[in-house]
Amino acid sequence: MHSASQRRPLVAANWKMYKTVAETEDFLDRFLGSIGNLGEVDLVLCPPATALAAAVERTRRSPIRIAAQNVHEQEAGPFTGEISIPMLRELDVAGAVVGHSERRALFCETDEALARKVPALLSAELLPILCVGESEAERDAGETEAVLARQVDADLAAVPDPKLAGVVIAYEPIWAIGTGRTATTEQAQEAIALIRSRIAVRDSAVAARIRIVYGGSVKPGNAAGLFAQPDVDGGLVGGASLDPEDFLAICEAA
Ligand code: PEP
Repeated sequence: MHSASQRRPLVAANWKMYKTVAETEDFLDRFLGSIGNLGEVDLVLCPPATALAAAVERTRRSPIRIAAQNVHEQEAGPFTGEISIPMLRELDVAGAVVGHSERRALFCETDEALARKVPALLSAELLPILCVGESEAERDAGETEAVLARQVDADLAAVPDPKLAGVVIAYEPIWAIGTGRTATTEQAQEAIALIRSRIAVRDSAVAARIRIVYGGSVKPGNAAGLFAQPDVDGGLVGGASLDPEDFLAICEAA
């Protein structure tokens, strides 16, 4: 229904709580030397907060954009341990992952908070990479479609339709994250098409333009098959993004 050619592929690396500043710089020294012909792909790297400034400096003259792994929606306040959007902008950070299943499960990130974070990022012209995805129990109970619809509706509720296309959605089935149990190409395509059709309920032109990527045990060996699916616009890569050669192979697959 929707042509993938309207959408530029995006591959993002989620480093989670891995890599110090020195390790980040070492990765970038090795990775930057080898990305010559990746001009057709948007590359985003999400290091831990402590390495954001160094990553931005190291990638200034490169096509890579640096994003955070979380952000708070308030500009400032008594929120111990949190980082605000103006703080990210001061570092020239380009966006943030929000709603990662680890943050939802381990750090109580709610759909209500996400409904504030996503529009706050867009207002500041930062790229929100919004993660959604069902648990294994929800999939087994036949609830995948309902879970995805609920998350997409709730998390994007406060984003005006014309701005929706500025969001990147990452479909990350929880059972596939860090488990080595990648979704099949059919499962990834089916779920991402469901998400796209949910966006189409609001605005079909936006649905054709919004980028929706797959995440969950993407590796060099399975990336090309996943990214070749008509609705899959790239990937959000955890474990395999920690190695510059593996991550490069995944970017090349896009
Ligand atoms: C992630 O953390 O977003 C992720 C997809 O992890 P992995 O690739 O390791 O499954």
